[in-house]
Amino acid sequence: MACSTCADFSSPRQIRLPADLTAVILSLQAAVAQNRLTVLPAYSATITAPAFSTLAAEGPWHEIIQNTFRCSGCGQKYILSADTYHGGGSLDATDGV
Ligand SMILES: [Zn+2]
Repeated sequence: MACSTCADFSSPRQIRLPADLTAVILSLQAAVAQNRLTVLPAYSATITAPAFSTLAAEGPWHEIIQNTFRCSGCGQKYILSADTYHGGGSLDATDGV
């Protein structure tokens, strides 16, 4: 259920290298700055991940990253999750949250 507003994020992105995470954070920050994506509250109360606004594109990063976003066009939700130093993560659409 992607629209033109969130087309950039409609295909899942795998994060394997720190550079991948930097690229994903930069594209998310740009989308948030343009009001294409809205940052949602923490995904889970049981996971202590930093707020998206505190994430530095170049790191260093908290060990666990988990942030959710909602498209301002179609309402599709996206989740950025990464176990930063143990095998990467992904940015993917989600029906949950
Ligand atoms: Zn959308």
